[in-house]
Amino acid sequence: MPTLPCYPCPHDASCCAYGTTLTDEEAEQIVQTHGAELVYRTRWGEWRTRVRNKRCVFYGNGSCTIHDRAYYPVQCQAFPWTDPETGARYEYDVMICGEFELRPELIEAHRAIPAAEELESGG
Ligand code: SF4
Ligand code: SF4
Repeated sequence: MPTLPCYPCPHDASCCAYGTTLTDEEAEQIVQTHGAELVYRTRWGEWRTRVRNKRCVFYGNGSCTIHDRAYYPVQCQAFPWTDPETGARYEYDVMICGEFELRPELIEAHRAIPAAEELESGG
Protein backbone atom coordinates (compact mmCIF):
# COMPACT_ATOMS: atom_id res chain seq x y z
CA MET A 1 0.00 0.00 0.00
CA PRO A 2 1.15 3.62 -0.43
CA THR A 3 3.31 4.93 2.36
CA LEU A 4 1.88 7.50 4.75
CA PRO A 5 3.92 10.08 6.70
CA CYS A 6 2.88 8.85 10.13
CA TYR A 7 6.05 9.40 12.19
CA PRO A 8 5.90 12.31 12.71
CA CYS A 9 2.53 13.09 11.20
CA PRO A 10 2.11 16.44 9.40
CA HIS A 11 -1.63 16.31 10.19
CA ASP A 12 -1.18 16.19 13.94
CA ALA A 13 -2.41 12.58 13.77
CA SER A 14 -5.95 13.50 12.85
CA CYS A 15 -6.65 9.76 12.69
CA CYS A 16 -6.04 9.52 16.44
CA ALA A 17 -8.85 11.95 17.31
CA TYR A 18 -11.21 9.18 18.39
CA GLY A 19 -8.86 6.75 20.08
CA THR A 20 -8.87 3.17 18.88
CA THR A 21 -10.30 -0.28 19.39
CA LEU A 22 -8.13 -2.73 21.30
CA THR A 23 -8.04 -6.50 21.40
CA ASP A 24 -8.48 -8.06 24.83
CA GLU A 25 -4.76 -8.91 24.87
CA GLU A 26 -3.72 -5.36 23.97
CA ALA A 27 -5.99 -3.91 26.65
CA GLU A 28 -4.57 -6.32 29.22
CA GLN A 29 -0.98 -5.39 28.37
CA ILE A 30 -1.78 -1.67 28.41
CA VAL A 31 -3.41 -1.97 31.82
CA GLN A 32 -0.40 -3.88 33.14
CA THR A 33 2.09 -1.37 31.71
CA HIS A 34 0.30 1.98 31.95
CA GLY A 35 -2.52 1.43 34.44
CA ALA A 36 -6.24 0.97 34.00
CA GLU A 37 -7.23 4.59 33.52
CA LEU A 38 -6.08 4.92 29.90
CA VAL A 39 -8.54 2.37 28.50
CA TYR A 40 -12.22 1.64 28.93
CA ARG A 41 -14.80 -0.89 27.89
CA THR A 42 -17.89 0.12 25.94
CA ARG A 43 -21.33 -1.16 26.78
CA TRP A 44 -20.84 -3.69 23.99
CA GLY A 45 -17.73 -5.06 25.66
CA GLU A 46 -15.24 -3.50 23.25
CA TRP A 47 -11.99 -2.18 24.71
CA ARG A 48 -10.91 1.29 23.56
CA THR A 49 -8.23 3.82 24.37
CA ARG A 50 -9.40 6.99 26.07
CA VAL A 51 -9.38 10.40 24.37
CA ARG A 52 -8.10 13.58 25.99
CA ASN A 53 -7.66 16.99 24.38
CA LYS A 54 -9.10 15.63 21.11
CA ARG A 55 -6.47 12.91 20.73
CA CYS A 56 -5.94 9.35 21.91
CA VAL A 57 -4.14 9.36 25.26
CA PHE A 58 -1.18 7.60 23.62
CA TYR A 59 -0.52 10.42 21.18
CA GLY A 60 2.32 12.73 22.10
CA ASN A 61 5.14 14.77 20.58
CA GLY A 62 3.93 14.31 17.02
CA SER A 63 3.44 10.56 16.98
CA CYS A 64 2.05 7.50 18.70
CA THR A 65 4.02 6.86 21.88
CA ILE A 66 3.36 3.10 21.79
CA HIS A 67 3.97 2.37 18.11
CA ASP A 68 7.12 0.39 18.94
CA ARG A 69 5.46 -1.72 21.63
CA ALA A 70 4.16 -5.26 21.31
CA TYR A 71 0.71 -3.97 22.19
CA TYR A 72 0.60 -1.29 19.48
CA PRO A 73 -3.02 -1.84 18.45
CA VAL A 74 -3.50 -3.94 15.34
CA GLN A 75 -6.29 -1.55 14.38
CA CYS A 76 -3.77 1.30 14.24
CA GLN A 77 -1.27 -0.86 12.34
CA ALA A 78 -3.88 -1.64 9.71
CA PHE A 79 -5.41 1.86 9.43
CA PRO A 80 -6.45 3.23 7.00
CA TRP A 81 -6.34 0.24 4.71
CA THR A 82 -7.83 -2.88 6.27
CA ASP A 83 -9.85 -4.28 9.13
CA PRO A 84 -7.40 -6.51 11.01
CA GLU A 85 -10.17 -8.92 11.98
CA THR A 86 -11.36 -9.66 8.47
CA GLY A 87 -8.52 -8.54 6.22
CA ALA A 88 -11.15 -6.66 4.21
CA ARG A 89 -11.17 -2.95 3.40
CA TYR A 90 -11.40 -0.61 6.39
CA GLU A 91 -15.07 0.31 6.30
CA TYR A 92 -15.16 3.56 8.25
CA ASP A 93 -14.14 7.08 7.30
CA VAL A 94 -10.60 7.11 5.90
CA MET A 95 -10.78 10.88 5.46
CA ILE A 96 -9.91 11.27 9.13
CA CYS A 97 -6.37 10.76 7.81
CA GLY A 98 -5.41 14.26 6.65
CA GLU A 99 -3.16 12.84 3.94
CA PHE A 100 -6.20 11.62 1.98
CA GLU A 101 -7.24 15.24 1.39
CA LEU A 102 -3.90 15.94 -0.25
CA ARG A 103 -3.46 12.77 -2.30
CA PRO A 104 -6.62 11.55 -4.09
CA GLU A 105 -4.73 8.47 -5.30
CA LEU A 106 -4.93 7.20 -1.73
CA ILE A 107 -8.72 7.04 -2.05
CA GLU A 108 -8.32 4.92 -5.18
CA ALA A 109 -5.85 2.63 -3.43
CA HIS A 110 -8.28 2.19 -0.56
CA ARG A 111 -11.20 1.43 -2.89
CA ALA A 112 -9.14 -1.24 -4.63
CA ILE A 113 -9.04 -3.35 -1.46
CA PRO A 114 -11.88 -5.92 -1.42
CA ALA A 115 -14.77 -5.05 0.88
CA ALA A 116 -15.93 -7.59 3.47
CA GLU A 117 -18.94 -8.64 1.39
CA GLU A 118 -16.71 -9.21 -1.64
CA LEU A 119 -14.43 -11.48 0.38
CA GLU A 120 -17.43 -13.37 1.75
CA SER A 121 -18.84 -13.93 -1.73
CA GLY A 122 -15.48 -15.02 -3.03
CA GLY A 123 -15.46 -12.16 -5.48
S1 SF4 B 1 -2.70 7.63 9.12
FE1 SF4 B 1 -2.71 9.73 8.29
S2 SF4 B 1 -3.40 11.11 9.95
FE2 SF4 B 1 -2.83 9.12 10.83
S3 SF4 B 1 -0.69 9.37 11.50
FE3 SF4 B 1 -0.64 8.49 9.42
S4 SF4 B 1 -0.56 10.24 8.01
FE4 SF4 B 1 -1.15 11.02 10.02
S1 SF4 C 1 -2.74 3.94 19.90
FE1 SF4 C 1 -1.37 5.36 18.88
S2 SF4 C 1 -1.85 5.24 16.66
FE2 SF4 C 1 -3.53 4.30 17.83
S3 SF4 C 1 -5.07 5.91 18.09
FE3 SF4 C 1 -3.75 5.92 19.91
S4 SF4 C 1 -2.09 7.39 19.48
FE4 SF4 C 1 -3.12 6.89 17.54
